[in-house]
Formats: sequence, C-alpha cells, structure tokens
Amino acid sequence: MIIEKIAESRFNDSVFESTVFGKEFSDHMLIAHYKDGKWGEATIKPYGPITMTPAAMSFHYGQTIFEGMKAYKNENDDVFIFRPEKNFERFNLSAARLNMPQIPKEIFIDGLKAIVDIDRQWVPQDYGTSLYIRPVMFATEEAVSARSSNEYIFAILLAYAPSYYEKPLSVKIADFYSRAAQGGVGFAKCGGNYAASFFPASEVQKEGYDQIIWTDSIEHKYIEEAGTMNVMVRIGNKLLTAPTSERILNGVTRDSVLTLAKDAGYDLEIRPVEVKELYDAYKSGELKEVFGCGTAVVITQYDTIGFGDERVQLPHLAEEDSFALNLKKKLKDIQYGLVEDPHGWRVKIEKA
Ligand SMILES: *Cc1c(COP(=O)(O)O)cnc(C)c1O
Repeated sequence: MIIEKIAESRFNDSVFESTVFGKEFSDHMLIAHYKDGKWGEATIKPYGPITMTPAAMSFHYGQTIFEGMKAYKNENDDVFIFRPEKNFERFNLSAARLNMPQIPKEIFIDGLKAIVDIDRQWVPQDYGTSLYIRPVMFATEEAVSARSSNEYIFAILLAYAPSYYEKPLSVKIADFYSRAAQGGVGFAKCGGNYAASFFPASEVQKEGYDQIIWTDSIEHKYIEEAGTMNVMVRIGNKLLTAPTSERILNGVTRDSVLTLAKDAGYDLEIRPVEVKELYDAYKSGELKEVFGCGTAVVITQYDTIGFGDERVQLPHLAEEDSFALNLKKKLKDIQYGLVEDPHGWRVKIEKA
C-alpha cells in the first residue's frame, strides 16, 4: 500500500457540528486501479476529485457497486468497525453479479483498516454519531461499446455521519412499482437499484409518505424490503421477516438483529410475509410494530402504513415494550463498545 499523507489536516471541530449525513469527507481516500486483468497497488492519498472522461463506461452502462459501513469510537478513544468481513463478502458477490472483477482482501480489508487508522481523528465519539465508510467500484474504461469494462477504480471514502432525532416514518406498501425481480440484481448493492427506486419514492412522497415497502414484483403479495433497508414486522409477540433471496439484500444489520433477537429468546419466524397478513393483523389489533434495518440508522420504526388508499396508524408502544427499540439499543451498545461483544463482531482498528 502506498501512503501519501495530506500536508495539513482539514479536520476541525466544526465537522462534528454538521447535521447532514455523508457530506463532510475526511482527509484521505483509498484508490486502486484495475487494468490488464489485475489490481495495481492501492494508494491512500488526500481526498479530492479524480479526472474521468465522459466516455467512462460506468456513466453509460452502470457498472457501479458500493458498500456502507461505519467506524465508532468509545470513551477510551478505541476505534471499531463492525463485521467488515460481511461487507467484503457482499461486495464481491455484487461484483460477480455485475460482471466486475473480485477485489482482494488485502485491498478491501487491509485498506479499510489503514485508512480508518490514518483518519481516526475524524471518528466522532458521541453515541449515535460515527464515521461512515463508503467502499465503491466503478467502470472507467474509455469506450461506448455495450459490454463490460476492462478497467475499474476501487475507492474507499470516509464521511461524517451525525446522529439525528429519529421519528417514526410513514411507509406505503408498493402495489405498482418494484425494486427487484427474480433473477435480477436485487441482492447486489449496485447503483442501478437505487437509481430505479428514486422515482417511485418521489411518487409516494407526493402522497405524504416517507418511504416504500417493496413487495414481490409478480403479485405485490409479499413484503420484501423497506426503502433501502430490510424489513421486519411484529405480530403479537412474534417477529417476522422474509428470507434473503435474489430479490432481497442480505443486510448485515438484519443478520445482527436476528441474532440478538434469538439471544433474547424472542419468538422468531423467517418466512415470506404476506401484505394481507399484515392488514388482517392490523384489523385484529395484533400488528404491533413494523421496522426497517440498515447500517445508516440501525433500526427505523414505521408508525403509519399505507395499504392502497387506506392509511393505518400503529400503536405507540412504551420504549421498554418495543422490540425495535430494544434490539436497536442492544446492537448500538455493541457497536459503540459499551457492552460485551459475545459474537466477536467488533474489529478494533490498531494504531500503525
Ligand atoms: C444496504 C442495503 C440494506 C441494508 O444492509 P446493511 O448491511 O444492514 O447496511 C438493505 N437493503 C438494501 C436494498 C440495501 O441496499
């Protein structure tokens, strides 16, 4: 790894006063180039723009994939990342599906540890805040022929993630648009999945909703994901979520939340969940909670659900009675290094 440190750090305390997610980039970025069938040596250098031709293939055919993770700091100034191997494996699954090259561990994992160590002063300490880590790969070959690129850039960027008051959101259950189809790329973290979701999201926003609960693309009968998060529901005292599939992304938060729910002895079922089942449970008063799971906010509660033209309101549970809030606290306490880490999920970033 080549390391070219910034002459003078851009860090100052006002960075941590920002209230916007992912706009305050740290001093450094990691860049690696793929060409002639192999990856060159990764370089950590000052963060900033790179030059690309408008003919770069990612702009035309969308070979772009990414990951999202976070670095946390405890009160002893130790810096941790959370289950990075999971993101590494998923990145390479996404790469394979988009016909992009595999990234070696020495670049992804070792690069991640090195850049977070170099920019460790950018990791905030307040509970709920973190340094967001964005690994990304995109096609750079200069050509407009419709095929996969022979050249790529892999980069790791770091940006401040503030804590914000998380009020429950309202979600509409999709009955027309779809996020993912069988045999498609739903399980991959590729840019195109996001691009295709923005218009349907803007449509429901016009109706006053915050997000969409995506359903299966064939019948809109089963719930699959919520916005860009995995979705879970609580009916009575049972926690339900769909199994991962080609259409459902295998979230690290989903997996962690399910493990913690199991540890806590919650009644858990992993199986397809019907929209009708949710609606019927609402009618009978059994639909207690619906929430999304993802790295950005860990767990987001939904208190208003749109079934077609009908908008229903979920009960407001006391904090100690909510599965969502209990699981969220358990997971965050592990991530922030406040409690034991029984599953070995935290990875400490050692000082070089
Ligand atoms: C990133 C993502 C998730 C959440 O994954 P985490 O690993 O928990 O952050 C869920 N669904 C989609 C569609 C995603 O892109």
